[in-house]
Amino acid sequence: MKTGYLIDMDGVIYRENQLIPGAADFVQAMNATGTPFLFLTNNSAPTPEDLAVRLNHLGIHGLSARHFYTSALNTADFLGETDPGCTVFVIGEGGLLAALHERKIANDAIRPHYVVVGEGATTMEKLGKAHECIEHGARLLATNPDNWCPVSREKTRPGAGATAAFLEASTGRRAYYLGKPNGYMFHRARRKLAELALGEPELAVMIGDTMETDIRGAVEAGMHSFLVLSGSTQLEDLGDYVYQPTRILQSVADLTEEVRTGKASDRLTSPVFADNAAHGGRFGHRHQTDIFAFHKPRPRPAMTK
Ligand SMILES: [Mg+2]
Repeated sequence: MKTGYLIDMDGVIYRENQLIPGAADFVQAMNATGTPFLFLTNNSAPTPEDLAVRLNHLGIHGLSARHFYTSALNTADFLGETDPGCTVFVIGEGGLLAALHERKIANDAIRPHYVVVGEGATTMEKLGKAHECIEHGARLLATNPDNWCPVSREKTRPGAGATAAFLEASTGRRAYYLGKPNGYMFHRARRKLAELALGEPELAVMIGDTMETDIRGAVEAGMHSFLVLSGSTQLEDLGDYVYQPTRILQSVADLTEEVRTGKASDRLTSPVFADNAAHGGRFGHRHQTDIFAFHKPRPRPAMTK
């Protein structure tokens, strides 16, 4: 069966500027077997070319811009398809500006149709200008709903979701969030994967480390989803979610053999279930009161509010 993979990056391929062990072999196996794949990221700051260079420095070679689909490209696709000729006021970085420019979507600081919020630093002056544009009728669009993003194991930074939430609060208008888990992101990514594969793969799988974005989006798009435990989700967190991944893996290294041989295993043979018997196969908090013993974690995507 021809399987195509959509693959999240942070927490799946690398973490804190370090490759996850086995990630380079996994990508190499996909390349060697002609397995179609596309990296899918909510980070709207870099261009696809930037990402190819970054992975090359980390030790994954032979990738080019066509292997990446970012929330910035998705935003430009969305506006180019649903409202060609529109104008935008942008809070964001190079990847977003380049994607909009490529789609011939013009910048407009006077009467834009949309305020587009992406990842990256901003200023009070820019937020003030965006607020004014929204008050004059511009619609609010965010490249992705992430309130915060990991920088390292100890450090996070505010994400586009937090910037959009600032403008939601100041204007009373709700933003529309593209990026994972938005269906338009998955729909366009699948289309791009089919182009790379020269035909629709028989099975499309999303591999990710975040339940709210990678796994939820895949479930809602009717795709298989593989959760890797090399990033932001622990096995014991799974009980908190209604939607569940098709399979759970320690990391993408668990898939390399499968990609090489073309023989798929199922979720119960996933290596991670080997020690699960120790706690009776149950996930999550044992008692409802356990939940209140700790402060609630910050919600990842703004849209879950
Ligand atoms: Mg991730």
